[in-house]
Amino acid sequence: MLGRRQVFRVVATVLVATGALALVPGAASAQRFIAGAPGGGDDYFPFAGNGGYDVEHYDLDVTYTPPPAAPAALVGQLSGVATIDLVATQNLDRFNLDLRDMDVEAVTVNGKPATGIEPPAEGTVVEDAAYWQVQDDGARIWELTIQPRPKIKSGQRARVVVTYGGDTTRPTDIEGALYGWVTTRDGAMVVSEPEGSMTWYPVSDHQTDKASYSFEITVPEGKVAVANGLPVGDPVTEDGWTTWSWDAPDAQASYLTTASVGDYTLHETETPDGLPIIDAIDDNLTPASRAITEASLALQPDIIAFIEDRFVPYPFNSAGAIVDDDSVGYALETQTRPFYSRIAREGTVVHELAHQWFGNAVSPERWADIWLNEGWATYVEWLWSEDQGGETAAESFDAIMEIPADDNFWDLAIADPGPLGLFLSGVYDRGAATLHALRVKIGDEAFFEASRQWLKRYDDSTASTDDFEALFEEISGQDLTTFFDVWVRTPEKPTTW
Ligand SMILES: [Zn+2]
Repeated sequence: MLGRRQVFRVVATVLVATGALALVPGAASAQRFIAGAPGGGDDYFPFAGNGGYDVEHYDLDVTYTPPPAAPAALVGQLSGVATIDLVATQNLDRFNLDLRDMDVEAVTVNGKPATGIEPPAEGTVVEDAAYWQVQDDGARIWELTIQPRPKIKSGQRARVVVTYGGDTTRPTDIEGALYGWVTTRDGAMVVSEPEGSMTWYPVSDHQTDKASYSFEITVPEGKVAVANGLPVGDPVTEDGWTTWSWDAPDAQASYLTTASVGDYTLHETETPDGLPIIDAIDDNLTPASRAITEASLALQPDIIAFIEDRFVPYPFNSAGAIVDDDSVGYALETQTRPFYSRIAREGTVVHELAHQWFGNAVSPERWADIWLNEGWATYVEWLWSEDQGGETAAESFDAIMEIPADDNFWDLAIADPGPLGLFLSGVYDRGAATLHALRVKIGDEAFFEASRQWLKRYDDSTASTDDFEALFEEISGQDLTTFFDVWVRTPEKPTTW
């Protein structure tokens, strides 16, 4: 993400999710079937993600009607059928999906229907296959619980089909920033970091459960729907509706999913290596925005080659951009196809492309680890600038170190910025300065070798700050405890390291 620069705010206390156990009376312990946890174990967003299973694939069949013309309210209509292929990782009596402000109309598990009921009181035994929803905006709890019958054994595959729908509005995250399925007059901007995907499909909404995706998005004829990956065939139009199909076979974190809808024109090209690039550019950009955007996006093959030269090959099956004439106030690195609000500037394109490696292929284990996304994307901006004859990485580092020690920029332990601190400038700029200081400390050879190992070892997965520290110690042969304590765990300006 790039664009949110906010003042420091006091971090709110967030309660940690508890996984309520629903034991089957009399069952032998080895055969106990219990409830999957309602959260993915991330302290910052306790009810994002779920326990007890691992999703392999989401097939999202969504029909969307944008709002009527102004002055009608900015409310769209969405209806969807989500087909979710998962594998149980424990014996499951019931399990949860995250789904916010959408009504569930039907659920089947392996073809067997469940009955929609009111949430049962604590301790009540529900005998038959059932599902229920808890929607508590104040506590940020948005859970769909599914109780399949028969129960699902550990290791068993299951296909869960959820039919759902509702009004779409303009949801906001914990900071109050727009995210998720953001309704616009001419479509929708779909950008979901950190846990906004639950606003438009039932999902285990945490990056520790990556999956592949396929999409069929049906919109009024004339609208264009753009998702991750590559198009499947040509769009099909029938009775005034057009269905756009996309396939994203690479492992993908839920916050990187998109299905933006607008008055886009698709521009298809490829890199010299044959990597497809698909840019969706809004027809309604201003002429000045369009000129800058087109010039920046024309650099994508060069930027990809630049990053590949220093690190590892591009990790996905396609690249490109979505540039909307509306704004969420920031750009986001949606996988294979970053989203840009109103304009795509060169530095932002470098940043969002860098995230395809740093953040998307290797994602943060916990949201506390987000400096590994934003520090790296910022540092690649510094490297690109130097390569283009602009400010060098050393000069960028020096500029950060000129910030006085009493400036609240330094009042942040970037390895634990808090749920309201994910997008503070310290996460970005101190993160990049950390990487530059590390490079100077261990030398270019070890730094870039460890960086490549990082991208190879944790490809299609997640990793933590501790994993990062351990790998750089392993490759450099140095004890980096003090270095990481000073740079990422101490809310003060580093002086020696
Ligand atoms: Zn970013």
